[in-house]
Amino acid sequence: MQGRHSLGACTKLFAVSPEAIIQLRDKSGRTFSREVHAEGADRHAPDLFAPGMLALETRLLREVGRCSADYQLIEPGDRVMLALSGGKDSYTLLHLLRSLQRRAPFDFDVLAVHVDQGQPGYEGEALERYLRQEGYDYRIIREDTYSIVIDKVAEGKTYCALCSRLRRGILYSAARDLGCNKLALGHHRQDAIETLLLNMTFSGALSAMPPRLEPEGDNPVVIRPLYYVDERQIAHFAELMRFPILPCNLCGSQSGLMRKRVRTVLDDLMTLSPNALNSLGASLANVRPSHLADPALHRDAASDKVQDAASQALDA
Ligand code: SF4
Repeated sequence: MQGRHSLGACTKLFAVSPEAIIQLRDKSGRTFSREVHAEGADRHAPDLFAPGMLALETRLLREVGRCSADYQLIEPGDRVMLALSGGKDSYTLLHLLRSLQRRAPFDFDVLAVHVDQGQPGYEGEALERYLRQEGYDYRIIREDTYSIVIDKVAEGKTYCALCSRLRRGILYSAARDLGCNKLALGHHRQDAIETLLLNMTFSGALSAMPPRLEPEGDNPVVIRPLYYVDERQIAHFAELMRFPILPCNLCGSQSGLMRKRVRTVLDDLMTLSPNALNSLGASLANVRPSHLADPALHRDAASDKVQDAASQALDA
């Protein structure tokens, strides 16, 4: 085992059933602790000793912490409901939020909520087993939105817009019922950039998805703690953690999905410049309204100038 990883040997085994915590030391002498689970033959078994595992987790945690600090995503006393789809992103976010919970200098709660939407072939046992075995606080909500989507969406059109709107409604209502003031979604940097490109291309709007969306009415604040994170790192982490991923193509052929096609455009841009992803991501937080063409912004700027001039005249 030792030859496979950059960590030193396991130095200690000091906690007991059902979880044990091993203490590891890296080459520079720094120590880390990791949980391992002794029970459950079918338990997912993360590759704790994979090269770079700890560095990757630390990096992801740092990005989540930085994003949280920049946009006040997680605050003292929050009760955060995490929408767990069963994909790599939401599993990773759940794991990171729990790690953050243990490190944060303040208390907050995390509750995982998974919606079984009645998709054909859905098999959620592995997901529920994982949540139970890992000791997460969780709820599974079963609502057959699939039948509604099939009924309402015209043939040849994709289901996702209606499906995700219905799911969001269920999540909002669950958050209210369960007393959660924040709803955490697993969107990452590529998701935000793709949304920007989609909105520009198909809606004529310069808008993306924000890391924090203030609520309407009594809905929870929507937060996206993975906003700064590159999807490729999440994919790698999820692979090492061996999360029991639910297949994401449950609703049959969705070959017309525009998001998929925009993804190839983004891939092309990343081939053009290795820094394209960072640069596009940074552009979302570096808006120069004066260099855009929204008439309302220009009117506002002009009226601000008039007001400034008027107050200067009054002060003189
Ligand atoms: S991929 Fe399937 S489950 Fe996901 S939003 Fe689209 S229709 Fe819904």
